[in-house]
Amino acid sequence: MRLVVDLNRCQGYAQCAFLAPDVFAMHGEESLVYNPQAEQEQRERVARAVAACPVQAITADGLDGCAGGTSDAAH
Ligand code: SF4
Repeated sequence: MRLVVDLNRCQGYAQCAFLAPDVFAMHGEESLVYNPQAEQEQRERVARAVAACPVQAITADGLDGCAGGTSDAAH
């Protein structure tokens, strides 16, 4: 899956790094580093991170049609 973080919007709250630590990580106090080609098995965690980001800075492709629909619970 592909994902993009709008780093202009990102405030470094680190919610995403907390929820999907294999995909997002804080680098220093405020800068976020992330894997733009996250593994499919990270999809559920990424969905949670997308939902949890206070400024909606994360956009991810491939979250729709998630088998089992577990990501819907986060909305
Ligand atoms: S949760 Fe949102 S604001 Fe916080 S570090 Fe992640 S992308 Fe940035």
